[in-house]
Amino acid sequence: MSKTFADALATKGLPKSEIFYILQEILSLNRNEILCQKSTDLSDEQWDEFNRVAEVRKSGKPLQYIFGRCYFYDREFLVNDSVLIPRPETELLVDRIIQDNKSKKDLKILDIGTGSGCIAIVLALHLDCKVMDAVDTQTLLLASKNAKKHNAEVNFFASDIYSQVQSRYDIIVSNPPYIGSQEFQTLEKQVKDYEPKTALFAKENGTYFYKKILTDLNLHLSYEGSLYLEIGAEQAQFITDLAEKLNFSCQIKKDLSGLDRMAIIKSKN
Ligand code: GLN
Repeated sequence: MSKTFADALATKGLPKSEIFYILQEILSLNRNEILCQKSTDLSDEQWDEFNRVAEVRKSGKPLQYIFGRCYFYDREFLVNDSVLIPRPETELLVDRIIQDNKSKKDLKILDIGTGSGCIAIVLALHLDCKVMDAVDTQTLLLASKNAKKHNAEVNFFASDIYSQVQSRYDIIVSNPPYIGSQEFQTLEKQVKDYEPKTALFAKENGTYFYKKILTDLNLHLSYEGSLYLEIGAEQAQFITDLAEKLNFSCQIKKDLSGLDRMAIIKSKN
């Protein structure tokens, strides 16, 4: 007997939000359209696909990896299990950069640890960029595909932080790995077991990349430039102290849960 949207929505063992996510992806409908058509039949293929995805999801794999795509700043990006799934907190970081810099012209921007390329691509599309460089040690193929998909002009190149970076930039941005090894056990299973450890963890209690980025910042940040970092909720004091020690000013911003999540660092002129 054929199955309806309502049958799918009655599936046990998954949160409603995830059932909607799966249906939205399979049917290319939005949540309201699904709700308004509850008695509509799924084809046999759609029902089989729905159940296949639901079973894989129940084993822990994130839906974004199952479908190979995710949404960031209202755009669709390709993802695979070698890159971090972009987070809503990172949308806030990007939004902040856009708000602070939208009236400026000919910006030179560097994104360190670009992963899927989401930060660099959205900035390239929303700001007046003369140069949008983005570096990572791997995964540049996927990031390039994402840039092509959105017609964004981004120069991706392999670099271990600044190792291959020659220029100075008006904006440097990074959402580096910042989870310390002690925090590992506190992560959700779907993060711990499926997302790339290289994109999540950093040595020295999660501070390794911040130290590297800040220590050579004066070589790569232009006069009056800004560094925007996503940070862990417990790292604000460390970053503020480190910035101060290196003669930079540091402003901390919170995320929507009220946790410290962003650092904006500038030279003290
Ligand atoms: N820049 C990418 C993002 O914010 C990747 C971040 C990372 O791998 N730590 O999603």
